[in-house]
Amino acid sequence: MRTVEEHQRVVAGLIAARPPAEVPIGDALGLVLAADVVAPLSLPGFDNSAMDGYAVHAEDVASASADHPVKLPVAEDIPAGRTDALVLAPGTAHRIMTGAPLPAGATAVVPVEATDADFAHAAPEVTVLAGARPGQHVRRAGEDVTAGTTVLRAGQLLTPASLGLAAALGLATLTVVARQRVLVMSTGSELVTPGTPLQPGQIYESNGVMLAAAVRDAGADVATSSMTSDDVDAFLAALRAHAGDADLIITTGGVSAGAYEVVKDSLAEHVEFVKVAMQPGMPQGAGRVAGTPIVTLPGNPVSALVSFEVFLRGPLRAAMGLPHPDRPRLEATLLEDLTSPRGKRQFRRGVLDRDAGTVTSYGPPASHHLRWLASANCLLEIGEDVTELAAGAQVRAWDLG
Ligand code: AMP
Ligand code: MG
Repeated sequence: MRTVEEHQRVVAGLIAARPPAEVPIGDALGLVLAADVVAPLSLPGFDNSAMDGYAVHAEDVASASADHPVKLPVAEDIPAGRTDALVLAPGTAHRIMTGAPLPAGATAVVPVEATDADFAHAAPEVTVLAGARPGQHVRRAGEDVTAGTTVLRAGQLLTPASLGLAAALGLATLTVVARQRVLVMSTGSELVTPGTPLQPGQIYESNGVMLAAAVRDAGADVATSSMTSDDVDAFLAALRAHAGDADLIITTGGVSAGAYEVVKDSLAEHVEFVKVAMQPGMPQGAGRVAGTPIVTLPGNPVSALVSFEVFLRGPLRAAMGLPHPDRPRLEATLLEDLTSPRGKRQFRRGVLDRDAGTVTSYGPPASHHLRWLASANCLLEIGEDVTELAAGAQVRAWDLG
């Protein structure tokens, strides 16, 4: 039997990064930059007003106060987006809006609150009730970003703010570490797609949607999710049809010790089928089909998802350069007595109280109890040599978020 760590190494060794890709910024959230971003322009791109008010020569209103107001004729009206070049003559003002380009010659903006203006209406003159210093309420070109500066670095995770910066710099695309594309294949002649009627002996297919969601939750893309019966020809046909598009193939089912083990029967030459000393998830396999990595997970839903957590989530995220590829793991105080099989690493579903630092197991250890998995927020990892744990013991918990 393989240890968990041995099989983790085998699987991690199969999964490699894709070449960098250029993607539209709208699709880049959560991806990692593959190249530095150098600002092609400055921000702001031109001197502009930080307030709604009046562009002035500061010295024209230096002495203005409520007691000694200064009256100026208003020569222009400059909304944001006005593109023609304007010049402010001495002794005059231009009504100007936030973000509008400052006219040449203007050295300050008097906010509307410091005037007598009813800003809803353009008036031919304005009375200024407070003085203005040069530079007041002016945003200078380049004060945020100077063209030529490296503003984002390769390896940086793209967040809403970094995408906003890229857009402000006029970049429509970014070069990123490409998302892994995963083919999810469910096998079983008993499986029926949810939403269609069940015959006796049939069950609804759940691994496909669950693993596809886990793949996306890990930050990767699902190339295709397919479902086939326990027929070798049907399985191989689906594999041929979809594998070309994938960086990784994940199958579920058909790898245990029974008859009709379609994945085992189909891939004997390509996949090393092994037993891993863990519960759930003992039957595992890993290999390559036509060069594409394939990881064969057991069919029981809990086994399938726990196996994805233990073997696939970290390497998939690492191949995309994502920070913290592994789930946070912490020691928590167990609130109950537990038993665990000797010789196997047990992963039990648990409920973690992060504030109290305590954890309880949740549901039976058997691998078909989906209901408990659905409401658990952690996995309890119990060592191979541990057979009993008493309440109060420290146990390792994988925080599933
Ligand atoms: P297997 O590994 O194919 O023998 O499957 C083990 C158990 O998991 C059986 O009870 C199957 O019916 C069940 N199972 C396998 N694949 C799926 C699936 N995609 N959705 C739901 N249950 C499944
Ligand atoms: Mg099966």
